[in-house]
Amino acid sequence: MPNIIDGKAHSARIRESLKEEIALFKEQTSVTPGLAVILAGDDPASYVYVRNKIKACEELGIKSFAYYLPASVSEGELLGLIDRLNSDVNVHGILVQLPLPEGLDEESIISRIDYKKDVDGIHAVNAGKLLRGADALLPCTPAGCIELIKSVTEISGKRAVVVGRSNLVGKPLAIMLLAQNATVTICHSRTRDLKEICRSAEILCVAVGRPNFITADTVKEGAVVIDVGINRVDGRLCGDVKFDEVSLKASHITPVPGGVGPMTITMLLSNTLKAARLQCGR
Ligand code: NDP
Repeated sequence: MPNIIDGKAHSARIRESLKEEIALFKEQTSVTPGLAVILAGDDPASYVYVRNKIKACEELGIKSFAYYLPASVSEGELLGLIDRLNSDVNVHGILVQLPLPEGLDEESIISRIDYKKDVDGIHAVNAGKLLRGADALLPCTPAGCIELIKSVTEISGKRAVVVGRSNLVGKPLAIMLLAQNATVTICHSRTRDLKEICRSAEILCVAVGRPNFITADTVKEGAVVIDVGINRVDGRLCGDVKFDEVSLKASHITPVPGGVGPMTITMLLSNTLKAARLQCGR
C-alpha cells in the first residue's frame, strides 16, 4: 500500500511552529503581522477560501483585514485600495483572491501590489527572483508541494515531471524543483507522448484541473505523486489523479481533499510572517 501524504497533518505541524515564531516576533518587535485579503465578486468557492484564510490568520496571531467588494467594482477603485494597503504600515501582506470578475485585468492588479507585500508570490518581481534563485516570497501552492515532496523523498537528482504550466502553479513548481536539483520536464496541452513522459517521472506533479486525468498507466511504479487539482464532480471534491488506481502504484500520493490544499494556506501564513520580517528589518 502506498503512503498517503497527509497534508493536514504536515500543515498542523508547520502552523504550530509558525504560531510560536509569530508570538516571538511580536514580543521582539511589538509588531503584529497583518494580512489584507481582497475578494471581488460573489463566487462561493472563493468566499470559502477567503474565510478559511482569515480563520487561519486568527488562529496564529496574524491580524487580518478583509475587503469584500462587489463584482461591479471598477479597476480604478481596486487599484486605489491596493495603493492604500501598500502604504499601510499595519499591512505586511496583500492577497487578491483569484479569479477576478470579468472586466478586471489580473496582470495590472497583481503588478500594483508592492512586491514586498505580495504574499501570494505571483508578482513579476518575485517570479523573476524565483527564476534567478534569489530570496523571494514564493507562490504558496508550489511551495507547499515542495514541502510535501521533501517530507517523503530526496528531490536532488530525481526525474520530475510537472503537468500544467500556469503562472500560479505549474511554472513556479517546475522552477522550485529545478532549484532542488531535480531534472524537470514540463507538460501541457500541446505535449506529445504525455503518458510516456509522465511514466518516466520519479516525482509526478499534476496541476491541470481535469478530474481523473492521470490514470495508473501514466505513472511509474514507486513514483511520488502530487495532485494539485481541485475539481468538483457530483458535488464532491476530487483531484486530477485517479486516486484509487494510482495509489496502488505510487510509493507516496497526496489525497484530494487533505493533500496540497491545506499546505497552500499554511505557506500563505508563513509568507505573511516573512513579509513582516522583511518590512521590519528582522
Ligand atoms: P490553469 O487552468 O491555469 O492551468 C492548467 C494547465 O493544465 C495549463 O497549463 C494547461 O495547458 C494544462 N492542461 C489542460 N489540459 C491539458 C491536457 N489535456 N493535457 C496536458 N495539459 C493540460 O490551472 P491552475 O494551474 O491555476 O490550476 C490547476 C488545478 O489546480 C486546478 O484544478 C485548480 O483548481 C487547482 N489548484 C489548487 C490549488 C490548491 O491549493 N490545491 C491552488 C491553485 C490551483 P496549456 O497551458 O497548454 O493550456
